[in-house]
Amino acid sequence: MTNVTEDAFDAIIIGAGISGMYQLLKLREAGFSVKVYETAGDIGGTWYWNRYPGCRFDSESYSYGYSFSKELLQEWDWTEHFSPQPETLRYLNLVAEKFDLRKDIQFDCRITKATFDKADKRWEVKLEDGKTACARFLISAVGPLSAVQMPNIEGIDNYEGESWHTARWPRDPDGFGGCKDVSFEGKQVAVIGTGASGVQVIQEIAKTAEHLFVFQRRPNWCAPLKNSLISDEEQAEIKASYPQIFKKCSETFGSFLHSPDPRMAVDTSPEERQAFFEKLYGERGFGIALANFRDIMVDSKANDIISEFIAGKIRERVNNPQVAEKLIPKNHGFGTRRVPLETNYYEVYNQDNVTLVDIMETPIECVTKAGIQTNEREYELDMIIYATGFDPVTGALNRIDICGNSGDKLKDTWADGPRTYLGIQAHGFPNLFTLVGPHNGASLCNIPRCIEQNVEWVTDLLEYMRDKGLVSIEPTREAVDEWTEHCDEAAARTLFPTADSWFMGVNRNNPERKRTFMLYAGGVPKYNVKCEQVAADDYEGFVLQ
Ligand code: NAP
Repeated sequence: MTNVTEDAFDAIIIGAGISGMYQLLKLREAGFSVKVYETAGDIGGTWYWNRYPGCRFDSESYSYGYSFSKELLQEWDWTEHFSPQPETLRYLNLVAEKFDLRKDIQFDCRITKATFDKADKRWEVKLEDGKTACARFLISAVGPLSAVQMPNIEGIDNYEGESWHTARWPRDPDGFGGCKDVSFEGKQVAVIGTGASGVQVIQEIAKTAEHLFVFQRRPNWCAPLKNSLISDEEQAEIKASYPQIFKKCSETFGSFLHSPDPRMAVDTSPEERQAFFEKLYGERGFGIALANFRDIMVDSKANDIISEFIAGKIRERVNNPQVAEKLIPKNHGFGTRRVPLETNYYEVYNQDNVTLVDIMETPIECVTKAGIQTNEREYELDMIIYATGFDPVTGALNRIDICGNSGDKLKDTWADGPRTYLGIQAHGFPNLFTLVGPHNGASLCNIPRCIEQNVEWVTDLLEYMRDKGLVSIEPTREAVDEWTEHCDEAAARTLFPTADSWFMGVNRNNPERKRTFMLYAGGVPKYNVKCEQVAADDYEGFVLQ
């Protein structure tokens, strides 16, 4: 593992987002030679690509940054409770500079193929330009939501106006956000898609577009974000309480600053419930989903109660009752799909310059040269924005031709759904690690918190192997079967499987996808304990050689 040549490394990392950056730093600190290959022109992953107006995260900013460096925590000031994309990317740039990360990252290059060499027990990767590189370990840091998904609507290429996917927004050449030349002023604009990205971009476009047409297929349950600037007093308090912030995160189900109320909705009086829901609806962040009664995500009766409360709020906020009804989900309960957090999203539909087009009622037939044709009429447009999301969780891995030790492709091995041990390794693919992979505890999480756990666990493992002179690690088939079963059981105890969502791997634009739960619903604390136990038991469930 020390024979370093130009293209041979101890570890190759795919992707320079939050997980790839931290994995690079930890492995480098541990004395391994590492190379990161990144498709984008710079670091940042999600925050590099998603530059659409309004893009920000729904985690409290101070719970989102890396926790590993006290100096970094004190040096960096988040300006808003929920940081906007340019600020987050600026933060990641500071991290890259402070820890001199870029020197080991090759940008503007895509890994197209990765093959495990059984004899040498190492991975060989092929880049788009034909070059190759090899490493003992291959670490995927591609992110669960990075494979951009365009809609399977006919005629998209015929459109002659301006069009963007939210996750491929053009960059500001001089800054961290989106290109300033993309303006909605005086324009007829369409947005297709009303997930978390659509909701955020719609709120912004509605401010300046001459007319905005929102093409909605299935509505989501949205709730207020309640963002605000961080005052100087709050800043001082945040800086003084990072240990408590991260401790709290480490104890909650999804590593957010919100933990469930011990009461059950079904056992609480309607008056008490109403008062509690009102309180949560008026508070910041994901509390409405995560700090709610503990039965809302596991008991459909409790879920009906909170869903009805949110439906009432939508009816209150949207003036036109018919539009309000179209915005209320009828096919899934609150929280069973990712809840987009919003700022005046519902009020947008009270504006004269905004029209909701329900494409379940009037389906899109095609994109034309001039705009969008539904079965009712043609909408002439200056700009179409595709907020149609991603091929989720395994999508980015599936776009790389990954061949394991018997020539099997990872894509085929997971065709009926992912099968992993701890969401970190698959049988038949030795020395390949999937940070934030399918069935990984980091998959349903305030992501940087779990990224740190994943990265540190993998780093410890690689050090353990180096110390013992081991060169290969792979989970047993039994360990994979057991973990996959455990993941399915954990999901079955929740209401997540009742909804079609990216959590369930549903991507209607990709008919190959099977409907199966992609994440880990047992909670982060339980996942972390399991990982610690496995490590303490000399990596039980893995075969090390
Ligand atoms: P998404 O949740 O998958 O939403 C995609 C939207 O596009 C859905 O409304 C979908 O409708 C629609 N759509 C897809 N294909 C279509 C087609 N062919 N015709 C018409 N409509 C179509 O994607 P996203 O909004 O990008 O969000 C993905 C995830 O990224 C979020 O759940 C979240 O985890 C993360 N994210 C986070 C933030 C944040 O932190 N605030 C912001 C953005 C994204 P159907 O529902 O009917 O399929």
